[in-house]
Amino acid sequence: MRTRVFETIAGLRTALSNARREKPIVGLVPTMGALHAGHGRLMEQARAECDLVVVSIFVNPIQFDRAADYEAYPRALAPDVDFCTARGVDVVFAPPDREMYPESPLTFVEVTRISDHLCGAHRPGHFRGVATVVTKLLNVVEPDRAYFGEKDAQQLAVVTRLVRDLNLPVIIVAVGTVREPDGLAISSRNSRLSPDERAIAPALYRALQQAGQLIASGSPNAANILREAAAAIPADPRLRLEYLEIVGAETMLPVERVDRPVRVAGALWVGDVRLIDNILCG
Ligand code: AMP
Repeated sequence: MRTRVFETIAGLRTALSNARREKPIVGLVPTMGALHAGHGRLMEQARAECDLVVVSIFVNPIQFDRAADYEAYPRALAPDVDFCTARGVDVVFAPPDREMYPESPLTFVEVTRISDHLCGAHRPGHFRGVATVVTKLLNVVEPDRAYFGEKDAQQLAVVTRLVRDLNLPVIIVAVGTVREPDGLAISSRNSRLSPDERAIAPALYRALQQAGQLIASGSPNAANILREAAAAIPADPRLRLEYLEIVGAETMLPVERVDRPVRVAGALWVGDVRLIDNILCG
């Protein structure tokens, strides 16, 4: 069946309230488009667990801390809709900016503490923008289940906590990271890498794996682990490590000793493309 595309909140709400009578369990997969196999995994899981699958495609301006990144973000609605159709998605919600933000918002959702480190420390206002748009999308779609990738583990932790704190009636489902054969986490931003940059981009995942091996071998000291792991990133003028941290798996706060489940998370600039990745350990 062809995927139905809605650009307005009113149109989407009417269609969903009708469809819900026959298809009661609604799953939402929020995305920013430029869809790839990582998004595909979220859609497949939603398709397996829900009666009606909604994918939102919205490049959310208020979560970008750099205008150039927002402008360079890849956008291509027609192939994205085909991608959704091929995965059995019922509905695509692709609102223009003015539909989501008809006026400058005065209300924001902010999840403190979990947003303090990692990307939160380097991208001011990013998680406030994410938490706000996710809350809006959950209010608009009213899904029973919403799907988020572990690739963006801090985002997943922020959303999980905001749903709990605000008593939103939705189950947040975490989906594992989809990688290229050489380990590079699939991302819409990978398309902006030159062939040379693409070849060195797996350096971040290799550093994470190095940290993971040290943790698995019982090494307890986070600073030592991070020093060795960072050394796995080649000295190359195109590579700049923004952060590499070991954080509690739910708190997203740095640990000094690794004595419980942790995430090792990093952000690496490859040329002018910023890549993030993480692994769960322990
Ligand atoms: P984005 O379009 O980048 O905002 O991502 C939309 C959703 O897809 C988020 O929940 C991401 O965590 C998830 N996602 C992005 N890349 C991957 C990947 N390689 N594997 C699994 N999930 C992903």
